[in-house]
Order: sequence, then C-alpha cells, then structure tokens
Amino acid sequence: MLVYMAMYHLPQGMRYATLEERKQFYTKEFSLPKVQQWLEQHKGKVKFATVIGRHTKIYPEKYREEAGTTIIIDQYKNLDEVRDYLTEFLPEAAYYDRNVYDSKNRKTGQELAFDLDPENITCPIHGTLADKMRRHQGLSFCKIELELVKEQSVSLYEHLEQRFSRMKSVYSGRGFHIHVFDPEAYALSTNERRQLAREVKEKGFQIDEWVTAGDMRLIRLPYSLHGLVSRVVIPVEKGELDRFDPIHDKRCLPRFLGRRVIS
Ligand SMILES: [Zn+2]
Repeated sequence: MLVYMAMYHLPQGMRYATLEERKQFYTKEFSLPKVQQWLEQHKGKVKFATVIGRHTKIYPEKYREEAGTTIIIDQYKNLDEVRDYLTEFLPEAAYYDRNVYDSKNRKTGQELAFDLDPENITCPIHGTLADKMRRHQGLSFCKIELELVKEQSVSLYEHLEQRFSRMKSVYSGRGFHIHVFDPEAYALSTNERRQLAREVKEKGFQIDEWVTAGDMRLIRLPYSLHGLVSRVVIPVEKGELDRFDPIHDKRCLPRFLGRRVIS
C-alpha cells in the first residue's frame, strides 16, 4: 500500500515516482556510461549513497526499517553492481560522496559544490523558507521559485568563473548544483570552504552552506532519478541554463512519464 504522508506542492507535471516507475527507470533507462563519464573527474574509488523513501514514504515493504536512512554503497566491483543495488532498493534518491579517499580510506580532498534549491528562494507568493516550514511545506516549490533559482545559478556560475575554470552545472531535480573540478578546489581546507560559502551568501546567493562547507558531503548523482519530482538529474551547459525548462525538457523526463506530462 502506498501512503502519501508528506505530499509537497510541486510545479504542475512534477510528482512522486511509484516503485514500479523507479524500477523501470533503473533497469531500462539509467545510463552507466554517462555516470562513468561524470565520475572520471573523481580520483579514487567513489562511494555511493541512497535513500529509499524518507520523504515520499514510498518503499518496498521489505525495506520499511531502512526507508528513512541513508545507505552507503561502497562495497561493489563495478557500476553494474551499483545499478543492481539501485534496482533492489528502488530508492527515491541516489547520491555520491564528494570526498576523495586514498587506498587506505583516508580523505585526501573533496569536490567543491554549490547547491541552490528553490525552497530557499523567497517567493512573492509563498514567502521565505521559514514561512514554508511553518506550513510543513519545506520541500515544496513553485514555478516562480524555479525561475528565480535558475537566474541565481547563472549569476553564481559567472561569479565563480572569476576564480575557477572547470565547472559544471547540474539540474538536480529541484534546483541546480554547480560542481567545481579545479585541482585547487579539491584541496581547499574546511575553513577556506566555510569562508567561500560565507562570501557567496553575502553576495546574496541563497545557497545551502552545508554543501559548500563540506558538512554535507553527499551530492545527487547525475543521471539518477529524483523520485520526488520524477525528473532525471542532468548536467546542463551554462549557456543553456537560461532557456532550460525542467517541466518540459525531454532530456530530464523519464520515459515512464510518456506523453502524460501536462503543460
Ligand atoms: Zn512560490
């Protein structure tokens, strides 16, 4: 039985994916070559993580106990095995660990990332994040917030270009991530990361400081399924961010939505 305990308001056409749809996605659509290509920038073995049903409360019955926890996947031979885990768990979310580890599992660096989410945007209709939390709608967002978060992502990217040169923006299913792959960014200390997060905040960007500072080291895995909104996480070139429309763009529509996406 599916229990929709925490239904968030989402832009039209976005909705929770069912278990059957998650299964269809991870068996037929999830692209291992693309994941492989994305992770080539990451030196050392990558740890993956997954959340089965924390927000959607949709999970295979046998994983009821684990549904709300973050499961780390670090024992695997190859990406095919990672996919096997995903088709077994049928998670609402899949992540990878930005930390870089050496062969003795010691952390040697961390990929730098910036996380811009629509709920952090102050909306002319729905107010601030605090207003949304008061209504228990902390993960809800609307089309206006989506537009505003896109504008912020473009200007943050341009701001970061003054300092870094190897960056990629990713549509995360809700908002956008900016990943930085410059070697010097991997080497930043925790203090330098905190300072950078503070600077960016002070410039007016509504980022999640925990992600940039590194306290939250997991980041959504590109090409995985975002099960709260039924969208595929995809890299989006900075030049196309302006025109990118995650409600209709075919690249981020999982096949199970078929023609049922409403305009
Ligand atoms: Zn709004």
